[in-house]
Formats: sequence, structure tokens, C-alpha cells
Amino acid sequence: MEFSLDNLVRENIKKMTAYSSARHEYSGTASIFLDANENSFGSPLTENYNRYPDPLQLKLKEKISRIKGVPFQNIFLGNGSDEAIDLLFRIFCQPGKDNVIIFPPTYGMYEVCAEMNDIAVKKAPLTSDFQLDLATIEGTIDANTKLIFVCSPNNPTGNSINRNDIEVLLNNFDGLVIVDEAYINYAKQKTLIPELTEYPNLVILQTLSKAWGLAGLRLGMAFAGQPIIDYLNKVKYPYNINTATQQLAIEALGNISSVNNWTKTTVEQKDWLKEELLELTFVETVYPSDANFILVRMKDAKKIYSYLSAKGIIVRDRSSVILCENSLRITIGTPEENKQLIEALKNYTG
Ligand code: PMP
Repeated sequence: MEFSLDNLVRENIKKMTAYSSARHEYSGTASIFLDANENSFGSPLTENYNRYPDPLQLKLKEKISRIKGVPFQNIFLGNGSDEAIDLLFRIFCQPGKDNVIIFPPTYGMYEVCAEMNDIAVKKAPLTSDFQLDLATIEGTIDANTKLIFVCSPNNPTGNSINRNDIEVLLNNFDGLVIVDEAYINYAKQKTLIPELTEYPNLVILQTLSKAWGLAGLRLGMAFAGQPIIDYLNKVKYPYNINTATQQLAIEALGNISSVNNWTKTTVEQKDWLKEELLELTFVETVYPSDANFILVRMKDAKKIYSYLSAKGIIVRDRSSVILCENSLRITIGTPEENKQLIEALKNYTG
């Protein structure tokens, strides 16, 4: 099997000319910018946002590069990792012809983006212990399969996918393997970032929306070989990351210690919640989790979901999802929130 990016990219994407923004077209220093039809006076705010943002977010990428140990040429930044997911479809999948493979139960946006782009979704459900079913996957791949999505740690099950199995895919599939590591900061399993130099078909997704506590800023990261990153930059909206997000993300990335403390507390609280939940007679299984949430199988999940929401506590009902029958997905909250959740559940009488 020979990996060739050229064979994977859609012809129209190869041929198209990327939008060239005003700020791309000059080099050197300048002090008067009359090139982009901005308002030269300022903004009706204390901070000025009258100028367009850096289209390639270089300062922010340098910061991420140092933290992640990935050269900036191997980093794409998106409006959440959801943007990167959508762009991968647009670059690699020919509507009405190509297909992708997902492993349910998993994150919903892979399928939503596929449907939006008129791409067929082939499903190879996880095994009963939420791992890859390699034999089934092998039989699912065909000549038009372009992308395989592996979510690890997986949402909504919480577990990490065996690294060896991911490497089997990387070694045997000549399309792209996208490993979504949104929850990696909470995991015992290590990131696949060091393998980027090994596998030209690997794309890793991470986000500032989870452990970094910045879901409202919308900043997702894709790490991959430079040819893939260049295509992502070619098709993205020219100014996809706004100035405020770029500035605030740079500031936040300098503040790693609070993030580390929250992550540590979240992991401790997860263990505590698990013990408390297992004391409850209606709880059947608390699945192992490498993420900041736990999937809990119980009697009457739907009734318990309604009971909790009537008390103002909102969890995610996953009962209708394959392999998650009668299961709720519970995000780990602050110690106080978790205590209130357990108190409420202890008072549940059916
Ligand atoms: N991947 C996974 C597995 C997720 O669970 C989520 C958010 N629920 C995302 C990606 C989306 O992240 P972002 O906020 O960066 O778009």
C-alpha cells in the first residue's frame, strides 16, 4: 500500500486558486494600511478590532507549537475542531461518490458533516468493550473510502481506543485516519502527536474547548503533515479565527497551571463520582473513562434524566444510541456540583 495525497484530494480542490487576502500581498514593514477597505478610525470599543486578523494566526501557532512540540507548518487552526472536520470532507470527499468510516457510538459531527457534504457514512460499530472491530473495519473499506474517524478518548463512551489498533489502521489504510483527541488532556493514554512524522496519513484533532476551558472562544487544532495543512489553509475562510480569539488564546496558553489543576481535580472527582454512583441501587455500570465525563448505565435512564432536569441538573441522555442503551453521559462538574448531583440521585425513589 502506497500513500499518495495527490490521489486523495478532489480534483477541483487541487485546481482551485485560494483567496488571496489584502494582508497576504505585501511584505516588509508598513504603517498606513489602505488596502483592505477597513475603517481606519478605530472601533466603538476600548480595544480596536477595525483591522482584519492574521489569516494564518502565526503568533498563536508559535505558542501552540512550543506547547505541543509541533512545528507551526504542521498546525491548522479552526473555528472549533468542527471546522477542521468539515474542511476535511470538502478537500477529500467527492459528493455522491466517496465514503467515510465511523465507529459508533461516537461524536455526532462526523456524520452530520458527511450528510451535509453528501458523503456516504459506513459504520463499523465498536465492540462491546468499546474498542475497534478490526475485522469488520477491513471489510468495510472500499476504493472510495477516503477518511476514517477514530475518536480517542471516545465520546460518549469515555474510553481510549487501543493505540496498536489505531496504528493498524494507519499502516493499512491508504486514506486519512483522523484521530480526534478532544479529551486527550484527561487521558492516561498518550497523544499520537509523536507519530505524525511516521504517518503521512495521520490527522490529529485537538481543541481548547475542553481541558483548556475555552469552549466559548472556538479554537480547534489539527496537526498533520504539511501537505495536508496546506490544503486546509487553502480552503478555509480567509479570516476564520477572529482577532479576539487569537489574542485571548495566546494569553490563556500562558496560564497552564490553572488548567493542570482543573484537569487533576476533574480526574479525582471522576473517581469520587464513580464510587458514589456505584453505591446507588439503580446504577448498573460506570464505564471506564479517560475523559472529563462518564457514561453510566442504569435502570430507567430516561426517567432519571427527567428527574434530574426537573431539579435543574442537566446530563446527556444517550439511551437511544447504539451500545448505550439506558445510559446517561455525565460531565464531571466542580466538587460542589458533583455533590449536588449525587444528593439528588440519592433522593431518587423511582
Ligand atoms: N470532538 C469531540 C470528540 C467532541 O466531543 C467535541 C465537542 N463535543 C468536539 C470534537 C468539538 O470541539 P470544538 O469545540 O473544538 O468544535
